[in-house]
Amino acid sequence: MTQMTEKQDTNKEILKLHSAYQIAESFSRCTRNGFVACNLNGEITYVNKTMEELTGWHEAELIGKDITELYALPEGVLNTTDVDDALSQPAILYTRDEKKLTFPVRQTSIKKEGSEDEIDGYLTLFITNTSDVDRAQTEFVSTVSHELRTPITSIKGFASTLLHHRQKLDEEKRKKYISIIKDQAERLSRLVEDLLAVSRLESKKLQFTIQPLDIKKSIDNCVTVVQSKHNDSHTISMTTQDPLPPVWADADRLEQILTNLIDNAMKYSPEADKVDLDISVINPGENSEMMQVNITDYGIGIDQGDIDSIFGKFSRLDSPLTRTTEGTGLGLYITKSLACMLNGDVKVKSEKEKQTTFSLLLPTSPPSNKE
Ligand code: ADP
Repeated sequence: MTQMTEKQDTNKEILKLHSAYQIAESFSRCTRNGFVACNLNGEITYVNKTMEELTGWHEAELIGKDITELYALPEGVLNTTDVDDALSQPAILYTRDEKKLTFPVRQTSIKKEGSEDEIDGYLTLFITNTSDVDRAQTEFVSTVSHELRTPITSIKGFASTLLHHRQKLDEEKRKKYISIIKDQAERLSRLVEDLLAVSRLESKKLQFTIQPLDIKKSIDNCVTVVQSKHNDSHTISMTTQDPLPPVWADADRLEQILTNLIDNAMKYSPEADKVDLDISVINPGENSEMMQVNITDYGIGIDQGDIDSIFGKFSRLDSPLTRTTEGTGLGLYITKSLACMLNGDVKVKSEKEKQTTFSLLLPTSPPSNKE
């Protein structure tokens, strides 16, 4: 018993050597996670080494800066005073070289020294030791929330204006607001459809019925649908080799791919009046024989540097046209993934403001013959 008390006393002595600050400081140095503390005005009061490494800024440059210059937390997290316990949310960190990195964050309040309930500031922890899969998932959730929030905010805003100020609005304005609500609801529904498609793709729950198909027939079906959607704004001409072998694909997925590529060709060339389709067989007679469908438009084009990124999720290139054109940025991701699952591919060549050609490649023999 006496021995135990002596040991406890010695422990107390050792603990007294280190202040809470010293321990916290050492802890923040030995973890790979990033720490930022700020005062109640949102001015940065502390960053650890990882934070310097992640952002490219030195501690001296960050201290005193407003936290909004360093990161964006999910809406409302910092502005509430009841942020007492840790929160787990994705946040965007702005780096010195103007990149935006997404991390899950946890945030807690910092208590005033000697006080049980008075708050002095906030401590935000950027969790970096997640796996690539977790990171990708966090990024995806963050982007999806953002994409969903935009139409929802617009629907809520216009619906509330109509509800509360209906009398003050003339007939024309009312119609305009209702049509915005309808457009935004349609955007939301497209987004949900595309997200479901992505989810089915990624969970590998898609069922394919691979069969020999007449590519010309599939193209004709898609052209009719897309032309009517765009009120026949473009003439679509088709050149083809004769005779053509069948392609081995799933009929619905093939039409989904073709529709997306032809729709994009028309969407991103509003000043042009034609889209050209060319069907050919590459490497005929060889083991590597493939059907190639080229879809060429004469629209805005794509910068060489952006070519790879357009196949990513939610990738929309910034241009005045894209900003005013409906789209989710998921179409090409879905299209390329489907083509690859069908043992094919989608490639693109583009000259800015001249012409863009998307090439769809598909097998001309049944899957078993290729393997
Ligand atoms: P979206 O729903 O935005 O059309 P996509 O995944 O189909 O999404 O395309 C991704 C981005 O690639 C588009 O937002 C656009 O910036 C660019 N893009 C796609 N097709 C074309 C094209 N034919 N010409 C120029 N840019 C294109």
